[in-house]
Amino acid sequence: MTSLMKTDIGASSNASPAAPFPERRPLDRLLSQLDQIADSSDHLIKKTFGQFESNGQSYNLPRYLFLGPKGGGDVIRIGIFATIHGDEPEGALALSRFVVALEKNPELAKGYCLFLYPVCNPTGFEDNTRHSRSGKDLNREFWNNSAEPEVRLLETELWTHGFDGIITLHADDTSNGLYGYVAGSVLSENLIEPALREAEQFLPRNTGSQIDGFDAENGIISQGYRGVLRGPWKLVRPPFEITLETPQKAPLHRQVEAFSAALQTILVEYRYLMAIAQNI
Ligand SMILES: [Zn+2]
Repeated sequence: MTSLMKTDIGASSNASPAAPFPERRPLDRLLSQLDQIADSSDHLIKKTFGQFESNGQSYNLPRYLFLGPKGGGDVIRIGIFATIHGDEPEGALALSRFVVALEKNPELAKGYCLFLYPVCNPTGFEDNTRHSRSGKDLNREFWNNSAEPEVRLLETELWTHGFDGIITLHADDTSNGLYGYVAGSVLSENLIEPALREAEQFLPRNTGSQIDGFDAENGIISQGYRGVLRGPWKLVRPPFEITLETPQKAPLHRQVEAFSAALQTILVEYRYLMAIAQNI
């Protein structure tokens, strides 16, 4: 939300005639824990994809796959997307924390293949801006013939993997508590409520009747902006879609723990709901 201000500060304090760009935040440092785990893990592999260019520099989108122990039925595929707003690295850090928890207790991911996208906006992360370096809010560009390479690459992921669930992580500097958006499958509401409840161990919930300009009930919003990262339209069996938002001004470790607890809860609850559905 304060991206413009941050950009201005970054540019004025770091720019010198010899340096055409403000100092950039290193992406590899943000991902170092995930990379370390992937090096030695039986479950986590790094599968970076999608090269693109920005101002003559080459970028990829980081992607990690976490394959849980085999479950009873079909593999459940969940895509988790973070840092589509470049100034919200909390979600990327939370994915590291989440993976640490899964490594300790892989049964949490039994039956799942998790597709983790910790940094969907690498240039925005480097510049510490909400928007990508091209000046676009990538989270308003989806499914609208966007020319932004990050959006096209992520749309292809959303098409090809046929996710059962899509979770996006955001941090909101205007909220004093946790909240979330639901869309897609009607199951989404059954998943977000226990997820928020679990996350409340670490941070309070935003109980306002209006959040981010939308009607909210117990921190849950059922509308949304056009062009946000979500599944393709008009699928016969739409995925559950959940956006989780932490209060960005709260202590970082609490946001990270809240996300990690919420994600673990969604895995447990969704597997449970699927088991019930199979027995009906
Ligand atoms: Zn955001």
